[in-house]
Amino acid sequence: MEFNFKSNSPYSYIKYGGYRGKYKGKEYYLVPNPEGYINIRDSYDMFGKMDSIIVDLLNMGRICTDTENEQTKFTCAYFFVEQYGLLGFMVDAPLNTDFMLNDEVTLKDNNVIDKNCVMKTKDYFDLFFPFASNEEMSYTITDGKVVIESKSDLQQMLKHTSINNQLIYSNFYCEKIDWFVEYAKRMYRIFKKIYDKKNNGVSGFNIDDEISKYYFSGIPYIINMYGNTPEISWQPNSLKQAIDMSFGFMICSEKNPLRICKHCGKVFYAKNPKAEYDSSQCRNQANVYKSRNKNKDTKK
Ligand SMILES: [Zn+2]
Repeated sequence: MEFNFKSNSPYSYIKYGGYRGKYKGKEYYLVPNPEGYINIRDSYDMFGKMDSIIVDLLNMGRICTDTENEQTKFTCAYFFVEQYGLLGFMVDAPLNTDFMLNDEVTLKDNNVIDKNCVMKTKDYFDLFFPFASNEEMSYTITDGKVVIESKSDLQQMLKHTSINNQLIYSNFYCEKIDWFVEYAKRMYRIFKKIYDKKNNGVSGFNIDDEISKYYFSGIPYIINMYGNTPEISWQPNSLKQAIDMSFGFMICSEKNPLRICKHCGKVFYAKNPKAEYDSSQCRNQANVYKSRNKNKDTKK
């Protein structure tokens, strides 16, 4: 059984025309540009780009695993967000989808937001809107429903969409660089362990344990009946949820197209199942090394 995420019902994800880094105390955030207004806002078909999204995320995790340099981490996260938008951690991390209705929010065990897993919903809200005044972004619970209060025009436009979307598509919504980095590193670590075990026979004491204890979120869906054949239409709450699920299906599929370049170590999407290198440069260089080594051997 193969899953096809590229259904005829594309799922559009909103990203802004541009982002920038902004400090709140010592915390470094990625925020939409102030001029990133409605006209330059851009949406794209999330599943149509999923191959490159996953490859870019894994390479970000690989680079960030090998560095402590804050500038490099920022550059990686920035590069990702400029292309695909923010991940939507706010709506993905809580255990309950209606978390805004309660006084406290409980987060999933393996979330990258907070180790304690329980916090006041008000504090949780503020964590994602650290630069917005109350007039710009606040919420009330009215008649058992969450109502976003805002004087911003864009926020008014989002009003007819779900609460989820009003939160993560807000031009005041931001995410910490550290969350991005931690998420990317984890995904890369899981990917690398599975890859090494399968391809290089590398096994370790707790590899299987670490991977099987990691819970990924699934995506809700509806069934479309536009024609005579029913069709799945995925309804992810965020880019992160879509990545989590697609990653699993990609990596566990028989034709898993994700490879690690034998020369430079970069993760790439192999169109040709026999590909060993991510680029012709890497293949050529590897061949040069091979023939040099051969020459050495024959001289001995
Ligand atoms: Zn390479």
